[in-house]
Parts: sequence; structure tokens; C-alpha cells
Amino acid sequence: MATTIQRGKPIYAFSKENAPVAFVKPGDEVIIETYDCFEDQIASEETDYDAIDWNRINPATGPIYVQGAEPGKTLAVHIEKISVKNSGVLSTGKNLGTMGHRLEDLQFKITPIEQERILFNEKIKIPFNKMIGVIGVAPEEGAVNCGTPGEHGGNLDTTLITEGATLYIPIFHKGALFGLGDMHAAMGDGEIGVSGVEVGGSATVRFEVRDDLNIHYPLLSNKQGIAMIVSKNTLDEAAKTSVEEMIDFLSPYTDLGLGKLTMLMSAIGNAQISQIVDPKLTARFFVPRWFLNAYGIYTL
Ligand code: CA
Ligand code: ZN
Repeated sequence: MATTIQRGKPIYAFSKENAPVAFVKPGDEVIIETYDCFEDQIASEETDYDAIDWNRINPATGPIYVQGAEPGKTLAVHIEKISVKNSGVLSTGKNLGTMGHRLEDLQFKITPIEQERILFNEKIKIPFNKMIGVIGVAPEEGAVNCGTPGEHGGNLDTTLITEGATLYIPIFHKGALFGLGDMHAAMGDGEIGVSGVEVGGSATVRFEVRDDLNIHYPLLSNKQGIAMIVSKNTLDEAAKTSVEEMIDFLSPYTDLGLGKLTMLMSAIGNAQISQIVDPKLTARFFVPRWFLNAYGIYTL
């Protein structure tokens, strides 16, 4: 039977201090309803900066306590389905995103969504590229605002976090204290203007608790392969660490030394950008599924 977790009162930071709103078991089908990243405050393109409660940005639904989740283990989040509402909102403006130094006012664009297309204007109907922006667990230390990504997940804004994918996240506290929000009907790698097509909706997930994976950052798995997702103060540092963490993760499954494995990753792995607009920047290193199959790595 499915458990539905309503949007209710969301969280704005991931923290072990947040009281769980639901308790679920591994294997349960869990439907999580979410607001958009503005907590549905943008009803009109003319919405004023001052009319917005900026304390209510990037809400996540949760925390959800997963039975059996213990520090040191890994939470697997199988994303089975993403449903989005029929209207999205885009935003950019002064000091926001990569073009913010050339923009004046805060701008919004509201886009109807029909038949899996986002109606931007008469010429442009954006194809669906549904994904989850904010997804994570309580971090090891203190509280981390839902707008910031990190080892615990959070605002990862990674296009690969979508239907059919599994995200593995290190667990730092009992129950994991999982939260999810900030869905996008579409987003490009980089999220360069600071928003995707922001939309409320619901995600259907199943949790699994794993004790056989040694990861320090979120790791994504899909049909095509796996990606180590790392967020740091600079993109350089994020990219470099994602490579290093991936190589350290894969090494024990292979008989390749550090040099040979690095050569191979240089030939077949891809350093990719997730987002370049959040308080920390996110890069990922992607390794194709056929490499995993060749070494009998079927665990992801
Ligand atoms: Ca986001
Ligand atoms: Zn968003």
C-alpha cells in the first residue's frame, strides 16, 4: 500500500533537529507531494520582490524517517515516478545566475504545461525533462539550508535525478531524515539563469537501506551508468573531487591499479556540470554501465 506524504508545513533546512512528519519502511511505496521552489507564491509574472516571503524558498517535504537507516549506511532512493502540476514558473534577475550582472529586475515567466510540453511562447514548446532539484538527508553537522547542496544531497539540481534513476545518499543520522522538493518540469545542465521550469507536484519513491556501499557523496545510478555528484565552493574543486571519489569507489571492484584505472576513466568517463548557480557548485563524474558490467559490478 502506498503512503502519501502531503506538502503540509515544509522544511527549509536539512537538520537532525527536524521532527519527522512520517515513518516509512524500506520497500514501501511513498508518494511525496511538493510545492515549487517559491512555495507556490508566484501567481503572477508581475509579482514584486517585496511581495515574496524569501524565508519560504526551496521548501522540501519531510523529514521522512526511514526504518533501519543508521549512520554509516547508505540510503537508496528509487525514483519511480514524477508528476508535475499544469503550470510552471521560471525566474532570473539582478545578481542571480550567470547573467545576473547584466540583468536589472527580478523577472518571472509563468508557463502553462500541456501534454508533456511547457508552453514558453508561440514558437517554443519545451519538451518535458522532469527532475527533482532538492533531495537529501539530515547532514552530519548542524542545519544546511535547502538551497545549498552537499554530501547530504540537498539542492543538487542535477538533471539525472529523474524517473527510473536511483540516488544513493550517505546516512548521517538514525532514520536518515529524508526530504524532497524543488521539482522542475525541465532544466538544462548548469541551471544557468538560476531556475528551471519550477513546478509543484509529487514524486513516487521507494527506499532501501544499504550497508555494502562506501560513498561519501550522493551517487546516482540509471540505465546508462553511474555518476558521483559533488558540490564544492568552486566548480574546479567539485569536478576534481567527483573524479577522485568515483575512482576510489570503483577501485576495490577492479584489479586495476590507480594508474590503469585513471587511464581508463580518462578514456571512457565524463566530467559533467550539474549546476553553477547555487551557494555551492555541483559537478558529477559519469561512468558508463558497460564498464560496470565488464567488471561484474551489478550492485548499483
Ligand atoms: Ca534548485
Ligand atoms: Zn528549482
